[in-house]
Amino acid sequence: MTLQTQETWIRQLESEYEQIVQWRRHMHAHPELSFQETQTAEFIADTLESFGYRVRTGVGGNGILADLAGANPGPAIAFRADFDALPIEEENDVPYKSNNPGVMHACGHDGHTSTLLGVAKVLAGRQQELRGSLRFIFQHAEEKLPGGAIAMIEDGALEGIDEVYGAHLASYMPLGKLSVSSGPSMAAVDSFDITVQGKGGHGAKPHQTVDAIVVGSQLVASLQHIVARHINPLHPAVVTVGVFRAGSAFNVIADKAKIEGTVRSFDPEVRRQLERDIRDMVHGITLAEHATYELDYVNGYPALVNPPEQAEQVRDIFVRTFGEEALYGLDASMGAEDFAYYLQHRPGHFFNVGSQNDSEDTAFPHHHPRFDIDERALLIAGQAFLAIAADKLLGRA
Ligand code: MN
Repeated sequence: MTLQTQETWIRQLESEYEQIVQWRRHMHAHPELSFQETQTAEFIADTLESFGYRVRTGVGGNGILADLAGANPGPAIAFRADFDALPIEEENDVPYKSNNPGVMHACGHDGHTSTLLGVAKVLAGRQQELRGSLRFIFQHAEEKLPGGAIAMIEDGALEGIDEVYGAHLASYMPLGKLSVSSGPSMAAVDSFDITVQGKGGHGAKPHQTVDAIVVGSQLVASLQHIVARHINPLHPAVVTVGVFRAGSAFNVIADKAKIEGTVRSFDPEVRRQLERDIRDMVHGITLAEHATYELDYVNGYPALVNPPEQAEQVRDIFVRTFGEEALYGLDASMGAEDFAYYLQHRPGHFFNVGSQNDSEDTAFPHHHPRFDIDERALLIAGQAFLAIAADKLLGRA
């Protein structure tokens, strides 16, 4: 009975494939930056309403919730998709290319949302079949700190929910593959923004100055010692300086240096140590070199930790639905994702869905101006969600 119903759902999803692709292309052509996704939110709400859902909009910002209450008691499950785009100028020459200059769906969030719309359409009106309930969480602003998840949770996105599931397309995984990982899977992300204030002057008279380039370079080099020499090598950590700006002329000693970077870790204690050591390094080196500084240290998303129990369940569900060969072994990543917040509040799972085919067009990394997907991955992602819904909400008949 369960399998038969799941099969019916999956066949219906297949019949919606063209529609799902159309939604994805519409969103791809009309991308909006994090926290500014008003038209995308309106599109999602209108589409959900057209299936008969009562929709809650403006959740924690531009977020949207839609509930499907089954006729029979059972668990309350939530599925989440994000829908913001990135400040990137698209370089793909495709009919659905971004119409919004300098903004692009370069991470696949258009795909996540169209997939979940497809799932919502298939399940709409099926209350009688369900034991339990399903909530669709459409989340704004995944790409920009502080992210949309935390505000949506504060605004009730997880109220009454027992388990929460989410997915990400992956251009680094082949089409047809899904990854399930247990335990710490994605890193915590923090960032720093340092201004070293020296004292400018003539390039020939260094003794009358405080050279911000020399102090800044020393700082960049010393920051590398934190991971290399301070952190337990058995604990993953990254300190990357992505911006170093200073100087204006070859014979002028620079007055100021600007240094920005990102910090990644898994272990909360390591995360605190990284922050403390970076602060100490900035303080100590500028003090010794007679410079001053401003430091803005921002704590971003926590590490994403998949609870083992749900990881095991999802693995079984995927093997039953797609076969053992569909599972793809993925190492933990130093990338970050604000789905981590949902998993701090409720058990659940975050999985990856391969979107790369034989064409190089689908092999570009996420956040690349030529990022694109094999759209058949949307169907696979949708089937994965439906299989989870079937397992959780059809009971064991
Ligand atoms: Mn993403």
